[in-house]
Amino acid sequence: MATKEDFYKLLNVDRNASDAEIKKSYRSLAMKYHPDRNADNPEAAEVKFKQIKEAYEILSDPKKRSAYDQFGHAGVDPSMGGHPGGFGGEGFSDIFGDVFGDIFGGGGRQRSNVHRGSDLRYNLDLTLEEAVAGTETKIRIPVLVSCNECNGSGAKKGSSPVICTTCHGHGQVRMQQGFFSVQQTCPTCRGTGKQIKDPCGKCRGQGRFQETKTLSAKIPAGVDTGDRIRLAGEGEAGERGGPSGDLYVEVRVKEHAIFTRDGANLYCDVPISFITACLGDEIEVPTLNGKVKLTIPAETQSGKVFRLRGKGVKPVRGGPVGDLLCKVQVETPVQLTKEQKALVEQLGESLSGSGKHHSPQEHSWTDGVKNFFDKLTG
Ligand SMILES: [Zn+2]
Ligand SMILES: [Zn+2]
Repeated sequence: MATKEDFYKLLNVDRNASDAEIKKSYRSLAMKYHPDRNADNPEAAEVKFKQIKEAYEILSDPKKRSAYDQFGHAGVDPSMGGHPGGFGGEGFSDIFGDVFGDIFGGGGRQRSNVHRGSDLRYNLDLTLEEAVAGTETKIRIPVLVSCNECNGSGAKKGSSPVICTTCHGHGQVRMQQGFFSVQQTCPTCRGTGKQIKDPCGKCRGQGRFQETKTLSAKIPAGVDTGDRIRLAGEGEAGERGGPSGDLYVEVRVKEHAIFTRDGANLYCDVPISFITACLGDEIEVPTLNGKVKLTIPAETQSGKVFRLRGKGVKPVRGGPVGDLLCKVQVETPVQLTKEQKALVEQLGESLSGSGKHHSPQEHSWTDGVKNFFDKLTG
């Protein structure tokens, strides 16, 4: 196996660092290698991030840490057993999902009197150009924010919530229902165990109020419909001082007048004249970065696809830049003058009189139809 960097060195801590020191250093490094902050080199950031994550997984577990201290990498290497999982199949977003979930949302996920705010979704419509090049956009969202007057407690400034008189602070009450006695969430305090006698005027005792927030979201280059960008902590405020939820910006790419996209590739139809198709020519085709020249060889058939390498999209999750595939549509000339019709007739006579096959598709098609009828009449 490849030589690995020392885990302590990776996390920038010394060998007798405390758990808290390790955690703190890990978090700041994880932020540093966030893809949003490393748009110029996401691959390198990903590699670094995985190393840091692996180091943290070992050093944050007392058992594994001591095995690592005693035996080095051999003590914790997955091939030697003792290390759960690896990084092979894990996507970048999954990794970030759990690390940032841990950093921003962790405390509120357990059951308690404080509740983490809801995650919110915002649908962001982008043009194809914006999705391909990346953009920075302002989004306005109506969101419940924590009340700054009462610090989210819901109680008037200077007062504080009192123990609920219905449930005496338990948050639960016993209710008689027929033969059964059932435990229910207290209807007075909705399970918090506290009552607000003197509600805050600004939020009317809710601890939160609705506000329109304007956020700036950085959309990385190469996103596609269905991709989500997570803005940690920008969702709804938590209840009673609980942590905020996250905001997910979900991308929808609008239809483009010329191009359609499939992953990293772009497709477009290119109409060419009957003359260009016959004799060949150099034509101009559009790309997202302006026009380029495309050589149409003589005798090009309608429907032929020309591939322009590297003129597609650079995918947001890395990988090679896609191609632009131009599908040629040969156009039949219309509104011919008498004179032009005569010329076409003349051309037709010349073609049929020459004794050669001039229509490859038609020729094989005619043969196919003939075979088909031969079989039918058997
Ligand atoms: Zn308030
Ligand atoms: Zn109560």
